[in-house]
Amino acid sequence: MQNTKSPDNFPVAGVIGHPITHSLSPALHNHWLKKMGLPGRYESRDVAPADCARFFADLRNGKVGWVGCNVTLPHKIVALDHCDVLSDAAKKIGAVNTIIVRNGKLHGDNTDWLGFSENLLSWAAFRAVPKNRAVVIGAGGAARGVIYGLQQLGFGDIIVVNRTVEKLQDLRDDFGIAVDSLASLPKHIGAANLLVNATSLGLKGEMLPVDFTTLPRGILLHDIIYGAHLTHFLTTGKEFGFAVKDGLGMLIHQGIPGFKAWFKTDKNPPVDDDLRHYLLSQKK
Ligand code: NDP
Repeated sequence: MQNTKSPDNFPVAGVIGHPITHSLSPALHNHWLKKMGLPGRYESRDVAPADCARFFADLRNGKVGWVGCNVTLPHKIVALDHCDVLSDAAKKIGAVNTIIVRNGKLHGDNTDWLGFSENLLSWAAFRAVPKNRAVVIGAGGAARGVIYGLQQLGFGDIIVVNRTVEKLQDLRDDFGIAVDSLASLPKHIGAANLLVNATSLGLKGEMLPVDFTTLPRGILLHDIIYGAHLTHFLTTGKEFGFAVKDGLGMLIHQGIPGFKAWFKTDKNPPVDDDLRHYLLSQKK
């Protein structure tokens, strides 16, 4: 008999990672539960890599007591092997960030791409531009969700540039996109409608190697990094008169499918300025 409810009989979900204290997911989901008046709780658990297999087995057999979970670094890739059913997005992106326990099976999904695309779609400037060429800087784990999201949004011409060119081959083969070195960025930017920073450059105040004087008029600048202040990339872009968007909405929107499934609601949880301010106040 599965035990995926708390003793009070309300659903409990959570997030696993290692470390986990920085995760904003508990603040996000518990805020939504409270705002929507839904019974439930969302927890966090530090799971070391050596304990992953046991955790997923216990999630499946009900010992964890959760109806599902989010998976964050460094377990997103290994989670693929522990799920019984995988969504197309999880398979293509090669990582799982959302698990739903259903009939004793772990259903693994990847909603990072959805968070990325919904964040862009919530931006009026983005809805107004043609979806022709997008240039992505970065080839880490997050870039895979970004590329998948851009393809779902209809961008036909996607170019990914990265400092370490060896990391680009898998992306080219898996997604059928064009790739090049970071130094070649100026060559590709001319006809782009959107430039995305999917690197960690900017987290500590660093600047991306972008020459703003050569960017095409009307190009949109998006950074998947988020924080109390915009990154240098976005503040400088703004000074040059470009429309800019940060990545907090990506984090928020990636949480919605899991929230609706775990806490059994058809309603979309609220995404507004209140939530943005609250989450940024909780960021460690
Ligand atoms: P990874 O560590 O997997 O990848 C890091 C990327 O940054 C690589 O492309 C790396 O290039 C590049 N990079 C790092 N330092 C430099 C440098 N000095 N010069 C040039 N390139 C550099 O990280 P993730 O892909 O998982 O995450 C990237 C960022 O995305 C995170 O820092 C996080 O802030 C953000 N993120 C946001 C999310 C959201 O919901 N908004 C979700 C997930 C991530 P190289 O290959 O050459 O090392």
